[in-house]
Amino acid sequence: MEPTLDDIRAARTLLREHLPPTPMWSYPLLDRAADATVLVKHENTQPVGAFKVRGGLTLLAGMSDTDRKRGTVTWSTGNHAQSLAYAGRVFGTECTVVMPAGTPAFKVAAVESWGARAIRADASLEAAERRAREHAEQTGARLISPGDTPELLAGVGTVYLEILEARPDVDAIVVPVGSGTGAAAACLAAAALAPRCAVIGVQSAASPAAHDSWRSGELVERPNRTAAAGLATGRGFALPQQIMRGRLADFLLVDDERITEARRLLAATAHTLAEGAGAAALAGVLSRPDLFKGRTVAVVCTGGNADPGELATLAGA
Ligand SMILES: *Cc1c(COP(=O)(O)O)cnc(C)c1O
Repeated sequence: MEPTLDDIRAARTLLREHLPPTPMWSYPLLDRAADATVLVKHENTQPVGAFKVRGGLTLLAGMSDTDRKRGTVTWSTGNHAQSLAYAGRVFGTECTVVMPAGTPAFKVAAVESWGARAIRADASLEAAERRAREHAEQTGARLISPGDTPELLAGVGTVYLEILEARPDVDAIVVPVGSGTGAAAACLAAAALAPRCAVIGVQSAASPAAHDSWRSGELVERPNRTAAAGLATGRGFALPQQIMRGRLADFLLVDDERITEARRLLAATAHTLAEGAGAAALAGVLSRPDLFKGRTVAVVCTGGNADPGELATLAGA
C-alpha cells in the first residue's frame, strides 16, 4: 500500500500535461522577519487554489476507463472536494462530494462550479463520511478516502520532487498537516533524494489529531476546532501516519492566532493570499526560531482558498 519514490515519479509523468510546476520564491522582507532563508512554494497558484489537485488528477489519470465510468464519491469540506471535482471535469468522470451541513455556500459553489454534485450530510465530517460510504454502496461509485488513498499521496508527492530538484540544499521542508498525505509524501521524497533534509509537520493546536497520533504511535481521535479548514481533522489516518512514523523529523503545533499572523506576513511580504492552512508552515517556522534561525527552509503555501473570515482578518488588528 505504501507508495514509493517511483510512484511519485510516475505521478509527475501523468501530471505533466495537466499542471505546470509551481513557482518557489524567497522574499528579503520575509527572510528578515523569519531570521532564515524562507522558500515559499506557491501551491496557492494551482487551478483549484491548492496542492491537492495533484492528487485528484493523478488518481483519475491512473484509473481504467471502466473505473472512471463508475464515478467517484468522497467527503470533504473544501480542497479535497475541489481536487476530485476538477479531476472529474478533466477526465469526464462523475464526481459526488458529501459535505457536512454548515459548509459555507461558497465552498459548495466552488465544487459545483467544476461540474460535481454536492450532497449535504449532517453537521460532522464523520456523518459525511458515512453518507459517502452509503452512496458508494448504492451506486457503485468508487469511494475515495482523503487520507488513505495511495494515488493521492503519490500525486501530492510531486510538490517535493519540484522543491528538492530546485533546491537540493534545503535544510528543512515544513508541511502543514491535516490527514497527513502531504507530509508523508514529503518524507518519502526527502528520504530518497535529500536524506539530510528534515521534514517537519505543522498542525493547529485546536485540531491536534494527526500530531497526537504521530507522537503516540496510535491512531487517535481529538477535538477538531481549528478555523483553518485544511488542518481540520478529528482523527489520524493510517496510511500517512505509517509513513510519517520514523521518517518525520518533528511535528509542531501552532495556535490559530499565529496562523493569522503568518497569513498577514505572506500578504505583506510575499504578495500571497494564503488560507489558514496555507500559512501554517510559515507559522511553524516563526514559532520556533531555535529550530530555523539561519537555515534554508522551504515552506509549502498549500492553498489560497481564504474564506470571508480569513479575508476580513488580513487587514490586521
Ligand atoms: C488538505 C490541506 C492541507 C493538509 O494536507 P493533508 O495532506 O491532508 O495533510 C493543508 N493545506 C491545505 C490548503 C489543504 O487543503
